[in-house]
Formats: sequence, structure tokens, C-alpha cells
Amino acid sequence: MAELIIMPKLGFNMSEGKLVAWYKKEGEAVTKGEPLFSIETDKTNMDIEATGDGVVRRLFIGEGESLPVTLPIAIVGSTAEDISALEKEALQQIAEKAPDAVPKDAGITADAGGAAAAPAAQQENNAAYDYDIIVIGGGPGGYVAAIQAAQLGKKVMIAEKEHFGGTCLNIGCIPTKALLHAGSEGLSPAEGKSEADKTVELLRNGAADSLRRAKAVLVSSAASIPEPGHVVCADGTEFTADSIIIATGSQPSIPPIEGAHISEAVDSSRFLADFASLPARIAIIGGGVIGVEFAELCARCGRKVTVIEALPRILANMDREISQSIALNLRKEGVECCTGASVQNIAESGNGAVVTFTKNSQEKTVEADKVLIATGRRAVLPEIGFELKKERGALVTDRNCSTSVPGIYAVGDCTKGVQLAHKASADAVNCIRALCGEKPLYDTSLVPACVYTSPEAASVGIDADTARQLGYDAVVKKAMLTGNARTLISGSGRGFVKAVADAQTGAILGAQILADRASDMIDEFTAAIANKLTLDDLSHVIRPHPTYVEALNELFM
Ligand code: NAD
Repeated sequence: MAELIIMPKLGFNMSEGKLVAWYKKEGEAVTKGEPLFSIETDKTNMDIEATGDGVVRRLFIGEGESLPVTLPIAIVGSTAEDISALEKEALQQIAEKAPDAVPKDAGITADAGGAAAAPAAQQENNAAYDYDIIVIGGGPGGYVAAIQAAQLGKKVMIAEKEHFGGTCLNIGCIPTKALLHAGSEGLSPAEGKSEADKTVELLRNGAADSLRRAKAVLVSSAASIPEPGHVVCADGTEFTADSIIIATGSQPSIPPIEGAHISEAVDSSRFLADFASLPARIAIIGGGVIGVEFAELCARCGRKVTVIEALPRILANMDREISQSIALNLRKEGVECCTGASVQNIAESGNGAVVTFTKNSQEKTVEADKVLIATGRRAVLPEIGFELKKERGALVTDRNCSTSVPGIYAVGDCTKGVQLAHKASADAVNCIRALCGEKPLYDTSLVPACVYTSPEAASVGIDADTARQLGYDAVVKKAMLTGNARTLISGSGRGFVKAVADAQTGAILGAQILADRASDMIDEFTAAIANKLTLDDLSHVIRPHPTYVEALNELFM
């Protein structure tokens, strides 16, 4: 079938592209994967390949001409096909959005176009359902599911009650990492917040754009599921779908501590929203990932920070050495970490609050202007008119992301398991593949985890203690980064790489890294474990010099 080739959008900021070269002329054959044309933007140059076999039937712009993104630039199809309708549709779209670019011989004027014809996929609606798939929630689980499904030709609607991009993009990882970056560039909290807001807006618009380009139907509304196959929006509009994917994420879980709801005590979303007016003294309840990342960020902004953690160590889910090293780093940055502490209450005190806790049976207090409660997150679910199997409030799913009710699927933080953006996206891919009758692509029990401190920490698979508890004859290989050239150049000098393997087979079971680029370096181990590689397999790899990753060479010497 003839295909409209459009000016691609190569980045969130790209609004138009310049066609630098056509590699095929009208009438020439092109095969899938062959370079068809080259475009240039203010940021990049790129060759674009043909997405299918055919003959170039029509070129709408010439070399050196520019056109807004997503507008048609060519038609590729078989010579036997009548492309007149497609050609007319393309010219109408150009006339409407870029009248100056309408080819002179087109016989069409700027106002003759009117609204561009809806794509064929959106005009057809003969099915028993309104949509093949309705996704509820537009975070990294939901939007990836919707885009994947729409690209595979499914008719998809996605409902989001706040912002596309979800927690990670709007009030989670992206703004906090942007604040960390701004802090490292010497910006004040207010300046950092303003930079972070710009990045968030860019990515948020990019997520919505990607959904539109994939031809998913976007609905800005909360949605409920009164019964399988039915979704109702906040205004009462009802839609039917063959399959429904719940991707409604998670929210901070506030423990039942007396005083947890006073105005000075806030969750991470509120803390982030008010970051521009960061007060002088911060108490953080919870020394997990959120608590530790905010502790370092606030300390670097010159604030007095105290972390109060119930367990004997911060980052208790990470490798013991990582946790100890990060505790030491935090102490050097002036952060006080009170571990093994049981919070009794939070009370108002002057313009701030006082947190009372017991440690070793002794009562202690911390005074602060603001208290961040970072004690974990819990699943959020839409209103559902029937029973779905849950564990501790999170949906129980199988490896295809099916819930206990046929036709209802769930992905990401609202399901039982790891609450991370990349795991949600992996769930989404597996889920759409299952809906298309394909096997899962990812093993979602193998999820790398990162902590964005300085240096960063990252881990994948299991650590040595867990391997031994599971009965492995575990061997640990460790290399320090103290002599690594890149580490020394960056001035940090601390860090290590550890790999845990089965001593009998050499199979890699896990890795733990503390290094400036740990979040990138962990990828080699994730790939190794996913492909059942051994320590010996990794020892044959030549790594570039000077890099952080060449520290791995020492592991295998
Ligand atoms: P978490 O589970 O990582 O840590 C919560 C900590 O709070 C635990 O150490 C727990 O022992 C402690 N705690 C619980 N109740 C307490 C109490 N009453 N008093 C003192 N301490 C108490 O949760 P989080 O840090 O809130 O993060 C939530 C989720 O978000 C996690 O799943 C995390 O993986 C994810 N996240 C990931 C990143 C990242 O990938 N870098 C960043 C932020 C958040």
C-alpha cells in the first residue's frame, strides 16, 4: 500500500527540517532500510531510511527546501497503485500548514486545503469496540504501551488526569536530576528549579507529541473501569475497548506518624514543587533512594540536613558497601544520618517543626524548618467496579502483565514489584507483545537500579550476601576506582566495581558499582546477566581508554 513519507521530528525542540539530499528520484525503486533522504536541523544531520519496499512515486519538496515536521514530503508505493487520493491529502496538509511550500504544479491554493483528512486508521470504526486498547495513565508505563500499540496498528486511546509523562518525568527523576545538575553548575535552588521546570515542560510536550504522532487518541481526564471492556471518563463519557491497560503509577505513602500531616511535613512531590524557597534546616524521614538523593542535593545547596532512617543503614536495599560509602560521603557533605531510629512524632515548633525519635532506647529530637517524608510509595489505582487480585494494594500480574480478570492488564508502579520508570516501560513492551501474541521481550526480574548521588551507585542482579543465602558458591571480583584515570581526572577518586559470579560456572549473578558514571556502567553487567555470560566472557572485551568502564579490566586480571 502506498505510504506517505513525512518530515520526521528528530528531537523535542525540532519544529521544521531542511531536506539536504534526496537519494532517490521519482520513479526509482527503493528497498526497506535503504537511505531515502537526508535532513538537517540546527542540532543534527541525519540520513532517513525507507520503511518499506516500493517505488518513489512523488516528491513534494526539493533539495535545500524546508518543511515543518510531520508534513508529507514524498509518496512511496507500487507503480500499479492509484495514488491520487493520497497525493491530494498530502497537498492539502501542506497547503494548510505551510502554504508557501505547496509545489507550483499542484493545482491547489493555500485555502483550498481545509482540515487535513483524518488518517485512514482513524476513519475506520467497524469493530465491536470503540478501541482495541484503552490505556489509563500516561507515565513511562502507559505512554510506552500506547505508542507501541498504536505503531503496531492498534486503535488506541490513552487517558491521563494530570500531565503526560507521569511521576518520573513531572515530579520525580527528571526534575530531581535536573536540580542535581543545576546544583553542580553552582545555580541557586530558585535558578535550579526554573531550569528543571523548562526541562520537564520540554519532555512532557515531547511525550504527548510522540503519542499524537503514533496516532493514539489522547484524553485529558481521570478514567474509571466500571466493568471489563468499559472505561468511563470524569465527564461521564463511556468508551469500550477489547483490552484495558492500567498504568496509574504510585504516590508517596505516608506512615501513621503523629503530626505527619502538619504543614511543615511534606512528601517528595510538595518538596520538589516548593524547592525554589528551600529553607535552612531540613529533616528527612526515610533514608531510601528519595531521602538520600534529596539529602545530598539540599546539603549542596548549603542547607543543614538530617536523615532519620528506621533500619540500621541507609539505602538498605543496596549492597552493604555501597550503603556504607554513601553514608560516609553524606557525612563529609555535612549530612547527619540517624539510623536505627524510630520516629515518635512530628510537632510544630515556632516557624518550623521538631521530629522526635528514639534510638538505642534514648529519645532524641531534630529541629527543622521543613520535614520531608520519604518512606516509600504505594500503588495508585483507578476506580474499578469489580475485584482484581492485589497484594498490599498493588495489582498482581503474570509475565504478560495480565491481571486476575481477562482483558484487564496492568504495568508499572501500580503492580506488585519494583517501582522504577524503566521497569514500567519494559512491562509495557511485554504487555503489548502479549496482546499481539508474542513472547515477552524483557525479563523484568532483572532490573538495574541507580542512585543519583555523587558518585552514583548502581546495581543489578543479586549481591554476594543474597547469592550465598540462595545457596550459590559465590565468588566476588572487586576493583577499586582510585587508580582509574577518568576518576582521577574528575577529581572524585572514590568508588569500586564488584561482580558476583557462580564459582562453579562463572555465570555472572550480579554487580554493584560506586562511580561517577555508575548508572551507565551497570549496563554492561545487565547485558551480561540477561545473556547468561560468564566472567570469562567479559574478560575478552577491549574497553576504551581513558574511561570509567576500563576499571572492569582489573576485575578479570
Ligand atoms: P524506599 O523504599 O527506597 O525507602 C524508604 C525508606 O524509608 C526505607 O529505607 C525505610 O526503611 C524508611 N522508612 C520507612 N518508614 C520509616 C519511618 N517511619 N521512619 C524512618 N524511616 C522509615 O522509598 P523512597 O526512597 O520513598 O522511594 C520510593 C520509590 O521510588 C522506590 O521504589 C525507589 O526505587 C523509587 N525511586 C527511584 C529513584 C532512582 O531510581 N534513582 C529515585 C527516586 C525514587
